[in-house]
Amino acid sequence: MEDAHRITPVIQLVVDTVEIRRRAGTRRPFVVASCLPDLEAGEFSIVDGRLDIDLVIEAVTEGVRATGTATGHWTGPCRRCLEPIVAELEVEVHEIFERNPTEGETWPIEDERIDLVPVLREAALLGLPLVPLCREDCPGPEPERFPTSVGVDVDLSEDAPPPDPRWAALDEFRFDE
Ligand SMILES: [Zn+2]
Repeated sequence: MEDAHRITPVIQLVVDTVEIRRRAGTRRPFVVASCLPDLEAGEFSIVDGRLDIDLVIEAVTEGVRATGTATGHWTGPCRRCLEPIVAELEVEVHEIFERNPTEGETWPIEDERIDLVPVLREAALLGLPLVPLCREDCPGPEPERFPTSVGVDVDLSEDAPPPDPRWAALDEFRFDE
């Protein structure tokens, strides 16, 4: 179903920004299928490292902005029954690149180019589910022996939140004087 020749090599995820930055307001679509190696975290991974990238790259005051989505599939074990799950992954990309990037906030422009690999890697890994279930009512590996509390509404919230202090102040206000 997919044409292997159209998979973009990692190297092409480095984008030259000279043209984009030359004219403010230039919006360049960047739509590719990529294969990034080692897209995994613990027992979870992106299937084949494959991400379909649909971005717009444009010049902004600070430098260059990339916005759009990356989609693919993740796989990993069900948290209850440990059966492998394969499900769709879609992550939003909304990143700024600049010459003097702020650690943890923006990405570098180096030699007039931006490298989308670390951006996509981070977005994809952050998009992995924390506690996936193969299905919402997965009964676990041995439901006979270890029934789960599926279907029972467990109230995880604390006791009722304290009343808003502003209303408390009104309570003290006596109208019957
Ligand atoms: Zn399961």
